[in-house]
Amino acid sequence: MSDPAAPPSPPSPPSPPTQAERDELRRHGILLTSLEELYNWGRSHSVWPLQFGLACCAIEMIAASMARFDIARFGSEVFRPSPRQADLLIVSGTVTKKMAPQVVRLWNQMPEPKYCIAMGACAISGGPFKQGYNVLKGIDRYIPVDLYIPGCPPRPEALLHGLMQLQEKIRAQTISGPEAPRHLQAGGAPECAVPDFGAHDLQPPQNPEVWRPPTIIRGGGA
Ligand code: SF4
Repeated sequence: MSDPAAPPSPPSPPSPPTQAERDELRRHGILLTSLEELYNWGRSHSVWPLQFGLACCAIEMIAASMARFDIARFGSEVFRPSPRQADLLIVSGTVTKKMAPQVVRLWNQMPEPKYCIAMGACAISGGPFKQGYNVLKGIDRYIPVDLYIPGCPPRPEALLHGLMQLQEKIRAQTISGPEAPRHLQAGGAPECAVPDFGAHDLQPPQNPEVWRPPTIIRGGGA
């Protein structure tokens, strides 16, 4: 039996409305949202890419901004000429080792929150030039990549699909906690080290803060 002298327990907080309840309210002209949703909605529909391309994949990126594909439908038609005004780095094309330090420098100059798409086989892994002594085997060795779009080249529709995936990722981010963007997490978002030209290769050959190669287990015998 409960103690009659004990103070009444505080009422439990109301549970947030379900999506079905929100949809029903919206049909009646009532829009329920949170500051976080509003913030992410605005961010996800105004992702401004950097006006930057490296090789043939850039032609597909340019095509995506033309009338036929119309990237403006997603709020991303404002290709900024300055990294300081851009939210998205689309690495579209072959990243030569001569160019890699400049790509990292551009990334560092972009303000947070920022995102990176590796567009095409070259940006992902070196593509058809993977064995070339002068080609980087993936830009994710030096900067964090949020999305990979395979293809040689990926078509503009693939870039638009990737952009929609990125919008979903942004909408799922929270203002605090483990799902927060990089710069809101403990330790912030440090600048990526710009590699130097060494005697035979870039130094360091990768950024250990970023590059997490998959563990390959060969064999399989017990
Ligand atoms: S992935 Fe293919 S189309 Fe894209 S830059 Fe490399 S070679 Fe060109």
